[in-house]
Amino acid sequence: MGRYDFIVIGSGPSGRRAAIQAAKLGKSVLVIEGRLKVGGVSVHTGTIPSKTLRETALNLSGWRERGFYGRSYRVKKEIGSQDLSIRLGKTLAHEVDVLEHQFLRNGVATMAGFARFVDPHRVVVTSPDGSELAVEGDRFLIAVGTVPHRPEGIDFDDPDILDSDQVVDIARLPRSLAVVGAGVIGIEYATIFSALDVAVTVIEPRANFLEFIDREIIEEFVHQLRDRGVTFRLGSAVETVARGADGRIVTTLEDGRAVRSEMLLYCAGRMGATGGLGLDACGIEVDGRGRVAVDATTFQTSASHIYAAGDVIGFPSLASTSMEQGRIAACHAFGLPLPPAPAYFPYGIYAVPEISTVGMSEEEVRRRGINYECGIARLRETSRGHIMGLEQGLMKMIFSNKTRRLLGVHIIGEGATELIHIGQAVLNLKGTIDYFIENTFNYPTLAEAYKIAALDAWNRMAR
Ligand SMILES: Cc1cc2nc3c(=O)[nH]c(=O)nc-3n(C[C@H](O)[C@H](O)[C@H](O)COP(=O)(O)OP(=O)(O)OC[C@H]3O[C@@H](n4cnc5c(N)ncnc54)[C@H](O)[C@@H]3O)c2cc1C
Repeated sequence: MGRYDFIVIGSGPSGRRAAIQAAKLGKSVLVIEGRLKVGGVSVHTGTIPSKTLRETALNLSGWRERGFYGRSYRVKKEIGSQDLSIRLGKTLAHEVDVLEHQFLRNGVATMAGFARFVDPHRVVVTSPDGSELAVEGDRFLIAVGTVPHRPEGIDFDDPDILDSDQVVDIARLPRSLAVVGAGVIGIEYATIFSALDVAVTVIEPRANFLEFIDREIIEEFVHQLRDRGVTFRLGSAVETVARGADGRIVTTLEDGRAVRSEMLLYCAGRMGATGGLGLDACGIEVDGRGRVAVDATTFQTSASHIYAAGDVIGFPSLASTSMEQGRIAACHAFGLPLPPAPAYFPYGIYAVPEISTVGMSEEEVRRRGINYECGIARLRETSRGHIMGLEQGLMKMIFSNKTRRLLGVHIIGEGATELIHIGQAVLNLKGTIDYFIENTFNYPTLAEAYKIAALDAWNRMAR
């Protein structure tokens, strides 16, 4: 039986980062992965595939050029599922290759198979051919991620009913699509398909969605989506999903309304992939959604030598934050001082248009009773935006009237997920409005929006 200093279960962002960190500290590390290829949900069905589909959709549809050439502009007239899958296949193969090489270079051992604890220091791995092997470890990281929530009564064997893992292998492009769930994943896919001219209806039981984002940004977002024909059915839950007499999928809502579509994409929630992991053998409990509780600083579970990181511990469930959690867990496990967690991390929502945000929203600033001022810049006000033909998109900055410090940045539009890092740096370095006013920005760039928004706020700030 093999014995390792550190056994990592799951090879997604948190597992990968933890494994490499431990290996760099000279520890013997084994990564066990249930899939045939390493990379996790992030590489195979989540982050990378959805972002690749988005990029393909934007490129082939000519989306970015429509500001200049009109709404009917297309790079490729007929876009089929094959057009989407070719780029996907290449990107995923590259990601797996990079990761395998990283493991190899750092001397991290990998094993394909499904792991389950049989006691607090031993897991049994069932390999794809059914054979079993036990391995022992001093320390463990549970990095098993999540699986899509599939409610009873929805027939996921129907080829036209997909969950968020299946959509990356979509067999054909539908003419109409109902997306159930207006969380980040549902909204990203809804807008990607809409960019491909699929008629999309978003169904969400709550009256609002993406509630952690500044409301002004969401208002702008909804306005843009409605303008291009996306329908919202908010405030009513799904009651039934069935095939209608005309062969279409009929989604009936609790308020009696029905949505008819060629396909349905179900994106309402994910569950921790802890079923079958044998956590009871280590005295670790999970909540109703299969998630594991951890110490927020060290990522230790209730068994102190077993850590958990990534989506299996819940919020914020991002690849970006999962990586940091994995690294911190490995540092703690092997006695390295923990880096202080930065106060603010950014959110990126890769919808069409994309949204990114860091720091406090205007609603949060008001809740806290902070005396503040906002500044707005439209991306079309920058020369670069004009050159690019951008008609939409805005940046909103929030500053404290008292300290002049930046409190939050909220961006919707082209480049939002990249632009946000300027705001993130200033925010975490406790910078003020003066940084944006006094510094020179490259010209022409979208980043000039920072200066424009800051000057807009400055004009109204108490001096
Ligand atoms: C559609 C979609 C889009 C997303 N887009 C973004 C984005 O744009 N940006 C972002 O930051 N985040 C995004 N996320 C979230 C991101 O993918 C996750 O936060 C991240 O993958 C979580 O990483 P993880 O370390 O928890 O492992 P995961 O990536 O969840 O991988 C876990 C791995 O563990 C394996 N496993 C499970 N059980 C066992 C077992 N018992 N034995 C062995 N192996 C096991 C699984 O097979 C899986 O490969 C997206 C998610 C989805 C679903």
